Amino acid sequence: MTQVVDTVDQRQLRTALGHFATGIAVVTTVADGEPIGMTVNSLCSVSLSPPILLFCVGHRSQLHPVFTAAQHFAVHVLASGQEQVCSQFARPGRSRFGDLPWQPGHTGSPLLPNSLVTLECAAERVITAGDHDIVLMSVQHLHPLCGDTPLLFFAGDVRDL
Ligand SMILES: Cc1cc2nc3c(=O)[nH]c(=O)nc-3n(C[C@H](O)[C@H](O)[C@H](O)COP(=O)(O)OP(=O)(O)OC[C@H]3O[C@@H](n4cnc5c(N)ncnc54)[C@H](O)[C@@H]3O)c2cc1C
Repeated sequence: MTQVVDTVDQRQLRTALGHFATGIAVVTTVADGEPIGMTVNSLCSVSLSPPILLFCVGHRSQLHPVFTAAQHFAVHVLASGQEQVCSQFARPGRSRFGDLPWQPGHTGSPLLPNSLVTLECAAERVITAGDHDIVLMSVQHLHPLCGDTPLLFFAGDVRDL
């Protein structure tokens, strides 16, 4: 890869890219027997056949070593009304589940209730890109859709469709 030169103002870049509206997901896994989860909006469908997804995790997060070493994940696409779940899994600290109920899925990853879409995945590859790592995952199990309205992230705010 060629050297990427850092020529743009970071604040302006964040503002500009914040206008790319996305859904919001919580990615969960288990580390040392403890359920771990993080809110992400970098979720992206990469390939349908084979089914591959990615999300990015920042190098500075204390959850970075957990997510780059994990073998399995559950990806929860948040539904309208799950603002509290979004903020709970975006706060600093390792333990973000609090009192939220969860159960282990087919892969052992913690499953949260009431998400719009729940996918269980296996880790495929981690690629370093700047100050984040790209985590590539293959989809192992697709749970039935639950509802039809997503939670969105646009211009720094969580919104309904
Ligand atoms: C809509 C949305 C989308 C997001 N998308 C992504 C994404 O795609 N990729 C991504 O990587 N992140 C994303 N984030 C951020 C992600 O959810 C982070 O987990 C969250 O911001 C917390 O940061 P952290 O993991 O860096 O926290 P930590 O690494 O846990 O902590 C950050 C700082 O707080 C300190 N700290 C930790 N615990 C405590 C404590 N108990 N008391 C006091 N200080 C403490 C640490 O020392 C550290 O300096 C997103 C957030 C939102 C809201």
